[in-house]
Order: sequence, then structure tokens, then C-alpha cells
Amino acid sequence: MPAKPEPWCRGITPLKAKQIKCAVEATCELCHEYTPFSLLELHGIPAVPRPEKPLPKERECHIIVVCSTCHQHIHELPVPEEKLQALIEERPFALRKEIRGILGYVPKSYSPPNDTDLSLVFDETLRSSSAGYYR
Ligand SMILES: [Zn+2]
Ligand SMILES: [Zn+2]
Repeated sequence: MPAKPEPWCRGITPLKAKQIKCAVEATCELCHEYTPFSLLELHGIPAVPRPEKPLPKERECHIIVVCSTCHQHIHELPVPEEKLQALIEERPFALRKEIRGILGYVPKSYSPPNDTDLSLVFDETLRSSSAGYYR
């Protein structure tokens, strides 16, 4: 385990790290072994400093969840960045979205107060666009 947080992983709280590990179903993305949370680590690619506040979308493409053994290999062998990047690109869409959500502080609210207003707006849009269509 590296002594200091990797550039891409800065600002990820232990809670968020755990949520990301949860999102990948506690499985190392490199060796695909089921691993307890305590042995899963986040690795940032590449391991060089980048702009201070990357966008969640951008960030998601640079963070991979690995077990401590794989993490050690990544840093010691090293494992080619292209290989790790390819693994990240293979993530299912839903998983990418979930990780971005965790990184991007997206609040999960299932009962927004203006729910009905939104659907009204949507109806209006539909009506006006179809009216235009029949002209
Ligand atoms: Zn592993
Ligand atoms: Zn690392």
C-alpha cells in the first residue's frame, strides 16, 4: 500500500471508497477475485499528478479497484497502463454511472418536491412539439 494517497484518489473519503468497492461487488478488477473490503484498494492511472479537481466523469476513467496483491504488482512490475485502462473501459454502463455518482456527490432523492411540476413541463413540451409536427 502506498504511503500517501495517489493523485487520482485524493479527496475520496473512506466512505466513498467503500461505496466504490461495493459498486464493483467487492471484486478486484484486475484478477476478478472476490476480496474483502479491507483488502481492496483504489489505484489511480496514471500515477502522476493531474489537475486538482477532475470531473467525476473524467475521474472514473482513472480509478480502478484492485486487491492489495494486484495493487502491489501494478506498482512493482509494473502492469502496463493500457491494460488497466482497457479494464476500466470494459465496465458496464450502469457501473460507470454508479461510480461517477459516488465521485460526483449526486444526491439520491426519490421524492423530489417538484415531481408533478416536472411532468407537467414534460407534457407541455410534448404537446407543443406535436402541434408543430402537424402544421
Ligand atoms: Zn487482484
Ligand atoms: Zn496504486
